[in-house]
Amino acid sequence: MARVAIVTGGTRGIGKAICESLRDSGVTVVANYGGNDQAAQNFTAETGIKAYKWDVGDHEAAAQGCAKVAEEVGDIDIVVNNAGITRDGVLHKMSYDDWHEVMRINLGGCFNMAKACFPGMRERKWGRIVNIGSINGQAGQYGQVNYAAAKSGIHGFTKALAQEGARAGVTVNAIAPGYIDTDMVAAVPEPVLEKIVAKIPVGRLGQAGEIARAVDFLCSEEAGFVTGSTMSVNGGQHMY
Ligand code: NDP
Repeated sequence: MARVAIVTGGTRGIGKAICESLRDSGVTVVANYGGNDQAAQNFTAETGIKAYKWDVGDHEAAAQGCAKVAEEVGDIDIVVNNAGITRDGVLHKMSYDDWHEVMRINLGGCFNMAKACFPGMRERKWGRIVNIGSINGQAGQYGQVNYAAAKSGIHGFTKALAQEGARAGVTVNAIAPGYIDTDMVAAVPEPVLEKIVAKIPVGRLGQAGEIARAVDFLCSEEAGFVTGSTMSVNGGQHMY
């Protein structure tokens, strides 16, 4: 029987590409999204993939959403924690709400989804969790103390949970994308973006599909020996 995957923030950008790639690999995929119903409707019309709305940062909503997916589609074998937001600003101008909202959704969302799905994976002795971090969680970024802290937290979360899942056949890995051509990056002012692209050795932004293929590998049967790792997919912008 096909594995069942849920991709948070799966209706747009990188998440959409991940959904399509997993589906093409024979996985039964559903997407979650936060609030943009129109984008979700367009996504389902275009891909045929079901989309479920809940706020990943809401612990109860994530638990209920995952239970609904399990009931309607099947036990969840694969979770891709991709949903993320930015609320950029230098520290002295950043509000507590902007700090908290980014931590709540970007990092809290990973906890909430894992709480809902990891126990079942352990019981069934197979699971894949892939968390989408960021180059800015590895290297830091001016004007992003909230985002960089949340993404850096994802990398620690990944290594800790990987240790808890290893004996039970559940792998937990992270991808750290560099700058990818999506709505999130379209929000970066053009002059800033030009400076960023000038620092990318391959000389261009990444494509969502290039992240998706890496996720696809980490979710595959063949990737059972890869756990606790962070794969950088960033055009060589940050190497360590
Ligand atoms: P987009 O802004 O294009 O899409 C974000 C997705 O997340 C949407 O589907 C959105 O749903 C969903 N989402 C937002 N908030 C919530 C929430 N509270 N609950 C559920 N879903 C939510 O983002 P990208 O595709 O660019 O980014 C995807 C991931 O990759 C993010 O985690 C981002 O931080 C990370 N990343 C992106 C990079 C880039 O260059 N683009 C670089 C490094 C990391 P809705 O449509 O309803 O708003």
